[in-house]
Amino acid sequence: MTSASTPSLPGQLNPTPRLLLGPGPSDLHPRVVAAMTTPLLGHLDPQFLLLMSETQEMLRAVFQTRNELTLPISATGSGGMEACLVNLLEPGDRALICVAGYFGERMAEMARRCGAEVHVEQESWGKTFSPDRLREALRRVRPKVLGIVNAETSTGAWQDISFLGALCREFDALAVVDCVTSLGCTPVAIDTWQIDAAFSCSQKGLSCPPGLAPLTFGPRALEALYRRKSPVRSWYFDLTALRSYWGTERVYHHTAPITMIYALREGLRLVLEEGLEARFERHQRHARALRAGLEALGLRTLAEESCQLPQLHAVLLPDGVNDVQGRKRLLEEFGIEVGGGLGEYKGRVWRIGLMGYNSRTNCVFQVLAALEKVLIDCGVHCSRGSGVAAAEAFYASS
Ligand SMILES: *Cc1c(COP(=O)(O)O)cnc(C)c1O
Repeated sequence: MTSASTPSLPGQLNPTPRLLLGPGPSDLHPRVVAAMTTPLLGHLDPQFLLLMSETQEMLRAVFQTRNELTLPISATGSGGMEACLVNLLEPGDRALICVAGYFGERMAEMARRCGAEVHVEQESWGKTFSPDRLREALRRVRPKVLGIVNAETSTGAWQDISFLGALCREFDALAVVDCVTSLGCTPVAIDTWQIDAAFSCSQKGLSCPPGLAPLTFGPRALEALYRRKSPVRSWYFDLTALRSYWGTERVYHHTAPITMIYALREGLRLVLEEGLEARFERHQRHARALRAGLEALGLRTLAEESCQLPQLHAVLLPDGVNDVQGRKRLLEEFGIEVGGGLGEYKGRVWRIGLMGYNSRTNCVFQVLAALEKVLIDCGVHCSRGSGVAAAEAFYASS
């Protein structure tokens, strides 16, 4: 007998269903849920090895690359970021990190912790970098690695990276891109754009749970990896070892999160079944409907229209709306989760995501209707039904 009192047993797990319209995680596609309830296989079971290869092959298609070293890291998006940087950077290496939001800052901090000499190219939040600006920075810094965020989820800004590979080659730098919020929502063409290394996540555009970070390394990144003077500082993220696990040798490294691989495999099947172009088009369409509604409600976004992401809108809060209370109402009364602001935009924006499975008509209508109710109750002047009506008019005319 122990003298400590037995804690009472918590009740059976019973989370309230939510509509996840924030910056991620986004809702699971029902087919992903179904895939996750199938029986567990051993991680070296021949059947599972086949599923791994299929997953890799589909990942290559979604990243639009032939890169052999393309695999999901057992971690969330930040783990993918860490894996890219820790494999490419050695202490003393120069890194040029482009920062125009929260995730750029995270990348700079990670590069510092790899022991790199980090040069930050700073832009104000919501803005993006032009080729000329980056060329000038590359000329000045001469880095080994240039790190940049393709879809800055803290601001909703889309950074063009189509010119990046060619530009980095002029200066013998490696282009490393954060595609955490872009993959599955907006184009990511690794080979055409000559991107050397990129990473993403499972829980945003791919409509899977958080837990995997798709990653791809091109030939130049691979060469840099094998030319290292020192071993990769991280054992878990060492791509030379992970490559043997995921490659033809199948040397045990760690136990792959089997169920998560099932989920990702189904998420990727869904992307390819729909077709990349159709999927990007769908994201654009529902984003336009959302924007029509937001505009009708008198709301503005943080990013400029020319670089506004379709999958994530950072909406500036009008005067009189309390951030925390407003989001609490959206969650409790309407079952809708949106994201709050980060960094300097904490308390000043709500981040609305329409990612993957959630880029669809009823999500647009639900979030507009709920937003309107909360805003009107806060005393914001907007005419009833105008947001939904504007979205409806958009759908009717397109
Ligand atoms: C979400 C996000 C991350 C971090 O991913 P986690 O899965 O939360 O670790 C990194 N970069 C960007 C641009 C993101 O949106």
